[in-house]
Amino acid sequence: MALVAWSGVEGRPLVIAGPCSAETEAQMLESARRLQAARIDYLRAGIWKARTRPVSFEGIGDAALPWLVRAGREFGMKTATEVATAGHVEAALRHGVDLLWIGARTTVNPFSVQEIADALRGTTVPVLVKNPTSPDLGLWTGALERINRAGVRALGVIHRGFAVASSPRFRNPPMWELAIEFRRRHPEIPIITDPSHITGRRDLIQDIAQQALDLGLDGLMVEAHPNPDQAWSDADQQITPERLGEILHHLKVRHETSANAGFLASLEALRERIDRIDHDLLDALAMRMRVVEEIADCKRDNNVSTLQVSRWTALLEDRVARAESLGLAPEYARALYEIIHRESVRRQSEIMNQEPSNQGGVGTG
Ligand code: PEP
Ligand code: MN
Repeated sequence: MALVAWSGVEGRPLVIAGPCSAETEAQMLESARRLQAARIDYLRAGIWKARTRPVSFEGIGDAALPWLVRAGREFGMKTATEVATAGHVEAALRHGVDLLWIGARTTVNPFSVQEIADALRGTTVPVLVKNPTSPDLGLWTGALERINRAGVRALGVIHRGFAVASSPRFRNPPMWELAIEFRRRHPEIPIITDPSHITGRRDLIQDIAQQALDLGLDGLMVEAHPNPDQAWSDADQQITPERLGEILHHLKVRHETSANAGFLASLEALRERIDRIDHDLLDALAMRMRVVEEIADCKRDNNVSTLQVSRWTALLEDRVARAESLGLAPEYARALYEIIHRESVRRQSEIMNQEPSNQGGVGTG
């Protein structure tokens, strides 16, 4: 993708903050006034809100655009809002909003994304694409490609977590592995994390923001409201501008690397150890697979099914307990063994359905 640098910040996270929704002109002005001390880069506010239920507050609409832009100008910050239709893009640009983002519910719909892309043709405004609600990297990248093909060169993405059937801790679990995989595939595209929509609650925002910076992600989008408890949308996850200031002050910014020679030497030695251990792990996995293949031969010859549930249950319990006794997290061992077992079953089934070379025919087992 052809891209240009747009964020203008080096060596510190880019910060977009402001209320979930623009509610009144006074609320926007107070938000901006109190956010000034937190030194944010862009003032955000939702103008048109994609809400799950029609009885929820759906945003003020076009009438709130001048409030956002005026609040930003008065307190020296650029402005940002979410767009979901061509009409939103035109209205936001007409009023002079500096950055647009596409919301998670819009990213899932290629028709809507294409409509937005067409409306952006010929503009230079930075556009950020929030991850789709479902954990689907292809959908996320596809949306970016549509925007990029319309000629938008100032691009970025917002990692806001993914909707899952039930999550005790998070509103939208971060599934960091997807952000990491996105970074691996598109290292040139800035990623900022939205801890507000990930957590859905104030007390976890700092922790998620720090985890994003620990991974070397490029910035944050945080919902901040002058009176969070009274917010017309997403009250539980909004924090005051002052709390945001504290959080930003305490965040540790990590760097991609360091020039310290001692650090570089120790890191290299440790990485060599990791490489050797990984090679041993792969050798062990290959060895395990050869045994799986022998088991498959035995099962085929005796016409026995690939899966024995009681054996699988006992194996999993044993490995999880053993992992725990070695100081590994049980969820980690469980996830690992689910992958190992899935591949064993797949391989066994492949072997059991091969035509036996020395027998031929079906049903000879
Ligand atoms: C928002 O940023 O206010 C918003 C609606 O976020 P998302 O699209 O991530 O749900
Ligand atoms: Mn919100």
